[in-house]
Amino acid sequence: MKTANPKKRYHRYIGYIILTILLTILPFIQINGNQIFLLSFDHKELHLLGTAFGASELYLMPFLLILLFVGIFFLTTLGGRIWCGWGCPQTLFRVIFRDLIETKILKLRKSITNKQKNPDYSNKINIFKKILGIAIFFIISLIASATFLFYFVPPYDFFAYMHQPLDHKILLGFWLCIAIFMTFDITFMAENFCVYICPYARVQSVLFDNNTLMAVYDTKRGGVVYDEKGSLLPPPQKQDKTNECINCQQCVKVCPAHIDIRKGMQLECINCLECVDACSDVMAKLNKPSLVNWSSPNAIASNSKVKYFRGATIGYMIVIAIILTTMLIMGSKKEPVLVNIDRNTELYKVRKNGAIDNFYVFLFENTDKKPHQYSFKILDKDFIEVLKPTSPVYVNAGEKVKEVVILRTHKNTKSSKTIPLNIEIYAKDDPNIKVKKRTIFAMP
Ligand code: SF4
Ligand code: SF4
Repeated sequence: MKTANPKKRYHRYIGYIILTILLTILPFIQINGNQIFLLSFDHKELHLLGTAFGASELYLMPFLLILLFVGIFFLTTLGGRIWCGWGCPQTLFRVIFRDLIETKILKLRKSITNKQKNPDYSNKINIFKKILGIAIFFIISLIASATFLFYFVPPYDFFAYMHQPLDHKILLGFWLCIAIFMTFDITFMAENFCVYICPYARVQSVLFDNNTLMAVYDTKRGGVVYDEKGSLLPPPQKQDKTNECINCQQCVKVCPAHIDIRKGMQLECINCLECVDACSDVMAKLNKPSLVNWSSPNAIASNSKVKYFRGATIGYMIVIAIILTTMLIMGSKKEPVLVNIDRNTELYKVRKNGAIDNFYVFLFENTDKKPHQYSFKILDKDFIEVLKPTSPVYVNAGEKVKEVVILRTHKNTKSSKTIPLNIEIYAKDDPNIKVKKRTIFAMP
C-alpha cells in the first residue's frame, strides 16, 4: 500500500516553532550594545545587524522598505502565498487558538480535520470553554505583543518602563491595544481577516504565474469538479469512472478558509496545505498519489518539476542582490561622528590689524556608544588659523553639540574671493575616528 506523504502540517509546525524561538530571542541578542533590528522612536535610532544609525543617518530606511517590497514580490512569484501559510502570525496564532487550544486542549472542536463544523453553543459548557479559550489566548497575545514591541522599544527598557506602567501610558496603551486587537482578530475575525482586510491577499494574485508554487488539484487525474463559471458539476467519478477523485470532501472539510481547492486557485487560499495532507491520506488508502499537491499549474499539467528559476524570479534575485550590496556598502561607511558645517550670514569681517575672520557653526553628532572630545584642523592651508574654539569639543554618546567656530587669516590673497577648505575633524581620544568636511573661507 502506498504511504501518505510526510504531513506538510508537521513541517509547518516545526517552521512555526523555529520562527517563534528566533523572533523571541532576536531582540535580546546584542552586538556592540546594539540589537539585530530595532527601530526606536524613543532614542531616534535604527539598529541593523548590530550597527546603530541615528536619525540623521536614516538613509538606509528607504532601502529597507524597497527590499521589503521587492522581497515580498519575489517570494510571492516564487512560492505563492508561502508567507501566509508558513510565516504569517495570523495563520500561526489561528493554529494555536483553533487547533491547539480549542480542539486539543479544551476539546471544544471534535477534530482538526473538520474545520467547517462549529461547536454547539447551546451547550453552556461549550460557552464556558470558549470564554476560557479566549482568556488563555489573551495571555498569549500579551506575550506576543510585548515581543513585537521589543523591535521598537529595547526589551530592557520595556521591562524597566513597565515597573512604573502609569508613567509610560503610551507604551502601556500600545501594548494592551495590540494584545486586545490580536485576541479579537484571532478569536472572532479568524480567516475573515485574510479574505477581507489583509492587503497582501488582494495583491498576491497579480504576482502569480503558472509556475508559482501553490496547492493545486490535478484535474487530469481527479476529474473536473466545477465548470468554467464556477458551478458545481456532478461528482467526478459519476461523470467518468476513470476520474480518481472519490468526492470524499476531506480536502474541503479540512480547509480553514472554507473553500474547495478543486475549484482552482482562489483569493481565500492561505496556502496552509491542509488539503494536500487530507487528500494524501485518502489516496494513500487507495494506493495512489495525492490529487492535491504543492506544485505549480504548469508542473501538474506537464507532469514535470516546478520551474523555480525563470525570468521573473531571476530578475527579482538580481534586484535584491543589488539592494543588499548597496546597503552593505552604505552601512559599512557609517561615520562615527557626524559634522554639519553652517556658515554665518556675515561673509567675513576685516579687523583693524588687517586680519580677515570667517564665522561658522559646527554641529557635532556623536554616533558612537562612548563620549568623545573632538578637535579639527585645516588641511593644506597654513595661513588660516583656528581662533575659536581653543579647546576640544566634548560630546556625550548619541548627543549633538553646536560650536561657534572662527577662522582667521592675515594673508589677503586678493586673487580669489573664496578659498576652498578641507577640514579634518577627529576624536582626540580615538585615532580611528576622523572625518573630512569641505567648506569655504570668504575673502573681501
Ligand atoms: S485550499 Fe484551504 S486547505 Fe488548501 S491550502 Fe488553501 S487554505 Fe489551505
Ligand atoms: S480529498 Fe482528494 S479524493 Fe477527496 S474530494 Fe478532495 S480531491 Fe477528491
